This record gives sequence, structure tokens and C-alpha cells, in this order.
Amino acid sequence: MDLAAPALSCLTPALESAGKPSLVGTTRAGLGQMLASIGVPPSEIRMRTAQLWHWIYYRGANSFDEMANVSKVLRAKLDAQFSLARPEVIAEQISSDGTRKWLIRFAPKDGEAKGADVECVYIPESDRGTLCVSSQVGCTLTCSFCHTGTQNLVRNLTTQEIIAQAVVARDRIGDFPGMKVPEDGLMPTEGSRFVSNIVFMGMGEPLYNFDHVRDAVSVLADGEGLSLSKRRITVSTAGVVPQIPALGSEAGAMLAISLHAVRDDLRDKLVPLNKKYPLRALLDACKTYPGASNARRITFEYVMLKGINDTPAEARELVRLLKGIPAKINLIPFNPWPGAPYECSDWERIERFSDIVFNAGYASPVRTPRGRDILAACGQLKSETEKLRARARLASD
Ligand code: SF4
Repeated sequence: MDLAAPALSCLTPALESAGKPSLVGTTRAGLGQMLASIGVPPSEIRMRTAQLWHWIYYRGANSFDEMANVSKVLRAKLDAQFSLARPEVIAEQISSDGTRKWLIRFAPKDGEAKGADVECVYIPESDRGTLCVSSQVGCTLTCSFCHTGTQNLVRNLTTQEIIAQAVVARDRIGDFPGMKVPEDGLMPTEGSRFVSNIVFMGMGEPLYNFDHVRDAVSVLADGEGLSLSKRRITVSTAGVVPQIPALGSEAGAMLAISLHAVRDDLRDKLVPLNKKYPLRALLDACKTYPGASNARRITFEYVMLKGINDTPAEARELVRLLKGIPAKINLIPFNPWPGAPYECSDWERIERFSDIVFNAGYASPVRTPRGRDILAACGQLKSETEKLRARARLASD
């Protein structure tokens, strides 16, 4: 990959409208409540919600004036009380390989002195576009290979803030009808949409923010709005075992496990959550994951760390451990970040590892590192948000 200096542009901020709550990112129930609060009669709530839903999530409307099938009177009422503001985009970086990273700032909440920053990454390929969203600001976990893990948790993102990342991304890449498509980087050329897949692999542990992630998945997958197939929405966890069944039964999302080691002693170091939920418990939860099948395989992420977890014996043990689980394995060459305690495995090592896994019958793509020049690759996300100590660990921590 060409490691040319990234294009960095500071963008005009502020789609935040003077104190008016935004409807962007709201659930159907939330929209209904907002409509009721401005006097829309109960008998009309459902129909009006459907109209707003279409304009916000299907068309990406930026102003109430665009909503041609909504009466002028209601548009004026909506405009007086609400906005269609997106969170502020502080900066956009475009990698030489077309990967885009946005630093997104959410307005302060609950007495916060300043807004919360998260990063959101778009990875275009010829036949798909994958958006990697964050679920928390920072992270309580401290996976030793992960740059984000060096930032303490600031807070959970709300459902609205998670969905707003997808709306902002689609704005930026012209993925709503009639919007201008950027010409300054690779975009998918096949298929009808630029964001075809969503992965919860940005900042944070999604299953420590379960309710908001579940509700966000339902909005992302709503067929009358953003309309992403649940088969193309993947939630990645470091292994919060008690929440895994609910992810399948309540959200219906695809599951990815940040595995990275085949022995508890090593995984305790790489993914310290393993001390609480060791491999046996994690793999048992995977075996019974609701909806898993050969057509809906669980992804196991395995970062290749030189001299740490990359021997042929470990590849064979990986195959043994995953027996009975409909699985695919993503081998991820380690993406270094400043001060990282690991190096990426040699290429021959990765190929040998991949061959063993492949010969055992598993798809084992080696994920091409993307966006390395803008620190947008896996495990490299870390915003500059003030690092506040988490006041309380979250429910299941
Ligand atoms: S890999 Fe995920 S869970 Fe682990 S520290 Fe990084 S963001 Fe947190």
C-alpha cells in the first residue's frame, strides 16, 4: 500500500441547530413520541411516523421543506421544535486505498463539559462498502494489541448516536438519492449502494452497550429506511458471554468474536476479559448462537502477532477448538500503532497459518489491511476525546 500522506480536511461543523433535538437517529417509537409532543393526534401518529421515516432514512432529508407529502402546517411545527441535524464532522481523512475515516463529535450530554468524539471508518471495495461504527466512546476493556484499548471509557453511545454515524457516512459518500458522489477516492462500482455492510468493530465493546446496539440494529435493518440486511450487520465482541444469546435472539445480527488466541493463558493477556469468560464458556456460547448456520457463520477474528500466536500448532488448535461451530476465520495482519508492544507476523507465517485453517475446511481470508496510512485499520481507532475515568463499570462488566 502506498503510505502517502493522508488528505485531511477540516469540515464546516455544526449541523447542530440551536438547542432543537434532532430527529436523525431516532427509532420509530421515538419519532411517534416526538410527534405526539407537538400535538399530532394519536390516529395520525403511525402514518406521520412512516412519512418522516421515509424522508429521514430513505431519502436522507436535510430539511423539513423537502418533505413534499407532509403538510406545510406540520412541517412548520416540526421545524419550530426539532431539527434534522447530524452530529458534527470534525475531520475527514481519505487513505490512498480509498478508506475514509471521519472524526465525529456528538453534542455534550448530561452535564458533560464537552462533546464526545468517535471515529467511524468506511472501507470501499469494488462490490461492497463496509462501514465500521463505534458503540462507545473509548472502551473499558484493555486488549493489549488494540490502540482504542489504551483510551478509558468515557461513555456509551446512545441508539441515536450509533445510527447517526451511518447517516453521516451516507451523506459524506453521496449514498442517498440525488446526492453527489465524491470523486476523490475509490467507491464501489458494483451493486446499488455504497454502504452495504455495517460492522460494530469501531471503538468500544458493543455488548456492554447492548440495548442501544440492539435498537440501532433494528433501525439500520428497517426495510423502509436504511434497509440493510441483518446478514450484513455484524457485531463483534471480545467475548461478553452472558449477552451473546440475546444478541442473536433479540438483535438477529451476525456475530464476530475477537478471538486471537487458542489458550487461556495467552488470551488472558491479549484479551483480558478472557479471565472472566474463558475460552470454553465463549465457544459454548458460540455453539448455541441463535440463527448460526452454514449460511450464517460466526466470524472469528485472529490478529497475527509475530512470535506470539502464529505457530502452525496454534493454527491446528484453532481448527480443533472450532469443531462443531459454523465458523469462518479472519486472519488479520497486525496494524502497528505508536507504542504498540507487538509486531505483525511474517508473511510466510501468515500464509502457513492460513493454509492449515483452509485445508481443514474453513474459509480463512487474510484481511488486507486498509487505511493504515490514516490509522483507520483494525485496532487503531482512538479519538482525542478527553480521557475521563469511567465512573462506573457497566452492567455486566
Ligand atoms: S479490541 Fe475492542 S474490546 Fe478490545 S480494547 Fe479494543 S475496542 Fe475494546
